[in-house]
Amino acid sequence: MAATATAAQQAGKHALPPLPYDYGALEPYIDSQTMQIHHGKHHQAYVNNLNAALDKHPELHQQTLEQLLRGINGIADDIRIAVRNNGGGHHNHSLFWTIMAPPGKGGGEPTGTLADAIKKTFGDFAKFKEQLASAATTRFGSGWAWLALAGGKLEIFSTANQDSPLMDGKVPVLGLDVWEHAYYLKYQNRRPDYVAAWWNVVNWPAVATRFEATR
Ligand code: MN
Repeated sequence: MAATATAAQQAGKHALPPLPYDYGALEPYIDSQTMQIHHGKHHQAYVNNLNAALDKHPELHQQTLEQLLRGINGIADDIRIAVRNNGGGHHNHSLFWTIMAPPGKGGGEPTGTLADAIKKTFGDFAKFKEQLASAATTRFGSGWAWLALAGGKLEIFSTANQDSPLMDGKVPVLGLDVWEHAYYLKYQNRRPDYVAAWWNVVNWPAVATRFEATR
């Protein structure tokens, strides 16, 4: 997989990033089969479809994924929706894998400046969790719940489909995938149970690093 990614990057194309842990590493909260299909099939398809769209305007292969998403409204009409859906999907999932970690390493609460900012913005960590869970469970259909920085301030909201906060000039710090493909094999229609379980695999040090870097 590493050799393939390198070849794709040399060609200026987007590539599927390897998972930073095994498929089964997030058990029992996220099952191995879901991770395998989610990363190997869904995320790979977003990457493939993004590259196929950009092939119609090869100069866009020179832009970073973040540039493409921030500038989504200026992308050529014939591929804008494809870049929105598949570029968004690629960026969202690339972020998602890195802000999770096996139980034990993941879970718990943030520390440091991120913990301070969460407390200042939302009152306390429990209220933050409640608000994010609410954004996740009330998103109708497919989408994401986010903790993002907007004008230097933390915000919680959700987006539809694969829309990224970058498309609205915001910087994603933490994202929770609430597409059915993210949980249906294990949780079926019980999205709230998936959301509750997910807290056990949040990689707070990684989220804090993102927060520090984007602030
Ligand atoms: Mn997904």
